[in-house]
Amino acid sequence: MRVLLTGGSGFIAAHVLHTLLERSHTVVTTVRSQDKADRIKAGHLKLGKEKLDFAIVSDIALSGAFDLAVQSDPPFDAVIHTASPLVLIVNNVQKEVLDPAIMGTTGLLASVRRFAPSVKRVVVLSSFAAMIDLSKGDWPAHTYTAADWNPITHAEAIVDAIAGYRGSKTFAEKAAWEFMDREKPNFTLTTLNPPFVFGPVVQYPGLSLDALNASNRRFVAFLKGMTTPTTFYAWVDVRDMALGHVRAIEEQSVAGERIFFTSSQQFCNKDILEIIDSEFPELREKLPNREKWNSVGYPGDGVYNVDAKRAQELLGREFIPLKECVMDTVKMIKNFL
Ligand code: NDP
Repeated sequence: MRVLLTGGSGFIAAHVLHTLLERSHTVVTTVRSQDKADRIKAGHLKLGKEKLDFAIVSDIALSGAFDLAVQSDPPFDAVIHTASPLVLIVNNVQKEVLDPAIMGTTGLLASVRRFAPSVKRVVVLSSFAAMIDLSKGDWPAHTYTAADWNPITHAEAIVDAIAGYRGSKTFAEKAAWEFMDREKPNFTLTTLNPPFVFGPVVQYPGLSLDALNASNRRFVAFLKGMTTPTTFYAWVDVRDMALGHVRAIEEQSVAGERIFFTSSQQFCNKDILEIIDSEFPELREKLPNREKWNSVGYPGDGVYNVDAKRAQELLGREFIPLKECVMDTVKMIKNFL
């Protein structure tokens, strides 16, 4: 297949790109600058020499941002949309978070409908953030499924970067499904909703620890002796996530579906600390004091469950276990320490 992948410089997108190339798809990926394109190319020389190309889309929030990128010769068969802000410090939530997420998604769908009639499948990377209802707290009686929607309002979303992120994923995904209902385009939509995505980084040479993606930063915090709240008790390995995206464009059976793309194994930050402690004795002294670990364990009354059935079926293999994910992530971070 010939695939347009948005946001190729991202943590998850870099793995999606790798998996697409490994499975012999040809790819054009959008990036914000030529410098990023050059660095990604250098990182994929082995697999990507003839199968990888780039389109510069400097700001996905601009009207018509994807009009040129979706036009290709030979034409695209599928589109995977991952570009969206996941930033923890912002000055203006509306401009820096909500607009790029929502307008980036609807703008891309509109460009595909108008200029890329050959595209039959679109996969949008959404989030568990678009599903979780924080007003219910840890909700031990509940099992989250793809039927759950975050009830966040616009007024709640603009208060800070984290609320803005949760709002951005909810509103962008809703807008995507509304677009499908309203426009009835020639392509199908599948959304994948992962919780925390952890795992080693494959972006490009020269990536620094400071530029590490948001979800992996908890590993760095632990190795600097800090604890951080768990917030979501669900996760998935980035390599499973990448395969999920690629299978979602290959498998007709998931067209039109919203899939909670989570590992069936839940986690809390204390689990991660215990794995680092047992598998990396040389790093033990960098970890926070053991007395603090219980504060990032599971709450006494328990937490919600997750329904990973459809993700498992899409993946077509066992999920990568937390222990393997933590070990591979810490091995990668050790190179920076
Ligand atoms: P990254 O921050 O690593 O990647 C974000 C990507 O989006 C980058 O390619 C970035 O480009 C691009 N981007 C952001 N804003 C703009 C903009 N205004 N114009 C053009 N490009 C933009 O994040 P992840 O890979 O971790 O996440 C990617 C997606 O996955 C996001 O949609 C996120 O919501 C979702 N997700 C992530 C989870 C996680 O735990 N990581 C969990 C659930 C969902 P640049 O590199 O130039 O900044």
